[in-house]
Amino acid sequence: MKGMEFSCLESTEHWTTGPWRIIHQQMRVSLPTLESSPPPASLHQRSSGMLLDSHGRTITDLRLSVTDRCNFRCTYCLDPGVRFLPRQELLHLDEYVRIIKACMNRGVRTLRLTGGEPTLYPELDELIAEAGSMNLDDMAMTTNGWSIQLDRARQWLDSGLRRLTFSLDTLREDRMKSITRSKTTVQQVLRSIDIAREAGFPRPKINMVVMRDVNGDEVADFAKLARQRDLDVRFIEFMPLGSARDWTASTVQTALETRSAIESNWKLVPFDGDQVSSTSVNWVFEDGADGKLGFIAPVSQPFCGACNRLRITAEGKIRPCLFSHDEWDLKPMLRRSSSSDELERFLIDAAWNKQPGHAIGEDEFRQPERSMSAIGG
Ligand code: SAM
Ligand code: SF4
Repeated sequence: MKGMEFSCLESTEHWTTGPWRIIHQQMRVSLPTLESSPPPASLHQRSSGMLLDSHGRTITDLRLSVTDRCNFRCTYCLDPGVRFLPRQELLHLDEYVRIIKACMNRGVRTLRLTGGEPTLYPELDELIAEAGSMNLDDMAMTTNGWSIQLDRARQWLDSGLRRLTFSLDTLREDRMKSITRSKTTVQQVLRSIDIAREAGFPRPKINMVVMRDVNGDEVADFAKLARQRDLDVRFIEFMPLGSARDWTASTVQTALETRSAIESNWKLVPFDGDQVSSTSVNWVFEDGADGKLGFIAPVSQPFCGACNRLRITAEGKIRPCLFSHDEWDLKPMLRRSSSSDELERFLIDAAWNKQPGHAIGEDEFRQPERSMSAIGG
């Protein structure tokens, strides 16, 4: 029914204006997504040629998940029972390359490679080399840091990868085991961070997901680590994106609470240099010590109004928002050799349909089916 209505209105403008828009929005709230193409953007928007959404935001940042596989089973992300997709479902190197080019043709300037665990993607080095030759303003990657080799890190840097972010949620080995449910130790991840620096990556970042009564008591230890090793530590509020679906508001230690806990040890001053689209509000130590601290507050202080991101999963589903229930499949287009124009129009339509915000904490909020590992953080 929904698919039929889209096809008969495909070339009209009124999905995005007037009463149709309201009906469409109501349908989106009440029905699961069945269609595999986004409702068309307005003719005006299509002719602009850029990835704009219907709420006035411009998409310039692509988050590309290169695998759904992971060697960790972090409690807040990936349940041990989760099955990975069959390999043939995942995109190939040439398909990722085509997607990046198509997005860049429509205004994307920055790329983050993620997963799952991106270092498990067999053609990662080739992908970094291909993307590195595309004149992006920035290319970064997020990893759990289980293993980085010096030569490989140097090669990534030479190929154009500019920044590495490491996820690390605890500095205590017993907690590392219980949070990640892996054999990787804190020392191994800290060693990977050292290797990244030795390879020439500027001030590596650490992402810490802060959870009350799990690791919330370690935030001052992480601030101390930032000071000692000149690191950029980002404290992220726990979001309802785990496959165990056991998120509760009471587990969220807010960014404000985290900053207060750190400020009872060191005085912080706002960092003067954040970009408007930055999700992180950054602070430095008043005493001039090394290190920078960032606070990411998607739950307590949503920053959806400044969001400039589009996400594409490892099997080619476009997700305009982390919390989207709508997603559209690029893979059939890639595999039936659609033209670049068709592919780019599909991306324009998907961007146009980005939802205004995530609605966490509101009555209508529903956690998406996918976990963070299957979306790409
Ligand atoms: N495996 C890589 C890693 O862990 O760095 C990359 C993928 S992981 C999904 C990307 C980021 O998402 C990580 O920094 C992770 O901590 C974060 N993340 C995962 N689940 C989350 C959740 N429920 N709330 C907040 N952040 C989450
Ligand atoms: Fe894997 Fe990263 Fe999710 Fe942890 S946060 S389970 S390392 S994808």
